[in-house]
Amino acid sequence: MADGEKIAFADGRWNVPDNPVMLYAKGDGIGPEITAVALAVTDAAVNKAYGGSRRMEWKEVLAGDAAVEKYGSGLPDETKALLEEYRLLLKGPLTTPVGSGFRSLNVTIRMMLDLYANIRPVKYIPGLESPLKKPESVDMVIFRENTDDIYTGIEWKYDSPEAGKVREFMKGMGINIDADAGIGLKPMGRAKTERITRMALKYAIDNKRRSVTIMHKGNIMKYTEGAFREWAYEVAAREFADSVVTEADLSAKYNGVMPAGKVLLNDRIADNMFQQVIAKPELYDVVLAPNLNGDYISDACGALIGDIGVLGSANVGDTGGMFEAAHGTAPKYAGKNVANPMGMIKAAELMLTFIGWKEAAALIDMAFERAMKEKKVTQDIARLMGVQALGTKEFGNALVGYISE
Ligand code: NAP
Repeated sequence: MADGEKIAFADGRWNVPDNPVMLYAKGDGIGPEITAVALAVTDAAVNKAYGGSRRMEWKEVLAGDAAVEKYGSGLPDETKALLEEYRLLLKGPLTTPVGSGFRSLNVTIRMMLDLYANIRPVKYIPGLESPLKKPESVDMVIFRENTDDIYTGIEWKYDSPEAGKVREFMKGMGINIDADAGIGLKPMGRAKTERITRMALKYAIDNKRRSVTIMHKGNIMKYTEGAFREWAYEVAAREFADSVVTEADLSAKYNGVMPAGKVLLNDRIADNMFQQVIAKPELYDVVLAPNLNGDYISDACGALIGDIGVLGSANVGDTGGMFEAAHGTAPKYAGKNVANPMGMIKAAELMLTFIGWKEAAALIDMAFERAMKEKKVTQDIARLMGVQALGTKEFGNALVGYISE
């Protein structure tokens, strides 16, 4: 048993001790190498930021190939029990078998811990090869709703008996659906919209972000995406009126000048949002999106900084979170000490942000910027910069060195 204490969750608050037990799973492929570096860099950042008064008590859980080998299951009962108990996990990438029947481990963990928000920060690091002219203005955090929308999987094949029944039912409502059409349902609920809005607004306020933009297609899907927009504005007015100013209020009450210390709330129609983030990324900060829009815009924004290998992402709920790199297991690089650990370190940095250890998170950002400036990078970036590459471990040591100076 680890020596640390448990993080307690009550009334939407996370009470974090100075020595929290933090679960980690090394993952498959390049997972073990990049996870080892992520733990070392996190430890160095925590130690430097708090002078030894805080410490992460890492506890390993088995998941993926290693778990199958030992227990015959990718997510054994022992791992599930620890997840139920400690509720936070830093997770290396896991192999998803193609075409096999079992549900992805990510989805299982997400459902177990009710992780309803998928969060992906996208910030340019000078030195990366971005397709944009002014990539330094890209600094966004996307909050994607994770449990609602068409991802609920309610759909029927065009020639199934169920599709036939739905067609009949709709006929009774005066609506004809073509006999050769597959049918899907898109539920979008008030409670699910409200909780992710609350999380995004709270994040924006706590982290002193400038704005939150609701991305929706409410002009076409009025009672789903349109309602998402309305409910989000309602939460802001009801619960965050002291800290949030809407775009309408900005011109009506503030003469277009944003009052200091407040967060601007606005909304954009989804198709417009895609061109906005490419043409004027400096105008966008936190993006709040329903499930499908969020899926698309997360990757599109990721591409703006030139390398999704350096991105981390989080799945977070009111009582837990799972933090991981945006990339997969990159099997061809496994065991060769060449993989880039930045995505995994970013995941650990996100975890630090969510437990409120922001000073440690900031040290990691500083180390990344310095490494890029000094061209201390792994092969994936070195080949673009035309410089000698560092191995995974050596790159990690360089980061620990910058942090500990
Ligand atoms: P991938 O593992 O992300 O790798 C695709 C390519 O991206 C690699 O060949 C490599 O490109 C580059 N790359 C990714 N991560 C890198 C890193 N850390 N350092 C250097 N280069 C990196 O995607 P995939 O090949 O489609 O998927 C492999 C397995 O991962 C699959 O089983 C998939 O299901 C799983 N996966 C898991 C997760 C997760 O656990 N969250 C997410 C995505 C995929 P170059 O060849 O150009 O060098």
